[in-house]
Amino acid sequence: MFEISEIKRNYERFDNHRIKGIARNDARGLRDEVVPILINEIKKRNLGNHLIEWINAERRKLSKYELEELKQKVKGSICENCKQGRELKGFSFRTMTAILINEFVTDYRLIICEKCGKKKRRKSAIWTTIFGWWSVIGFISMPFVLIGKIKASMQEDKQSEQIIESFIEANIGTITIEKDSKEVIQKLLKEFNQIEDYS
Ligand SMILES: [Zn+2]
Repeated sequence: MFEISEIKRNYERFDNHRIKGIARNDARGLRDEVVPILINEIKKRNLGNHLIEWINAERRKLSKYELEELKQKVKGSICENCKQGRELKGFSFRTMTAILINEFVTDYRLIICEKCGKKKRRKSAIWTTIFGWWSVIGFISMPFVLIGKIKASMQEDKQSEQIIESFIEANIGTITIEKDSKEVIQKLLKEFNQIEDYS
């Protein structure tokens, strides 16, 4: 680990571009004692208050109560798949396609309503059961994929909580800057589900 004085010297040497980059992308992972050094450099160079706000937002430590409140907001958002107001849950499943010596694995993580989630998971299971066998590796790994699927549906609620929590954690900066608004959570859910889009 670097000595703090060494880090300070390095930060002083970094150009503005690099300092901005650290503030924007790495704020969450910094050691506590490095944060004041970074903030000091931003102030010294007049790089803007918004960067300092962003650092603080990214490093926000949620109390149990705050986390629960955000989770309720996520669950109470509208399902981006069917646009209905049913309670949302987190889903994660794997689709496998195996052809000769190739196999294609796609992992999906979605936060949608239970009806849509179960439908998508069922489709994935059917696809995998039909198309996941047709290679040597597919043949060998298929039982594990299927066991994984059964396990996942057994631990559904626990998994759902984990997916929602990691969604909040990954987006805490944006959520905080937008004052925990339902609108920003809805927007982020749309992005989250779009990246993982699968029908
Ligand atoms: Zn839905």
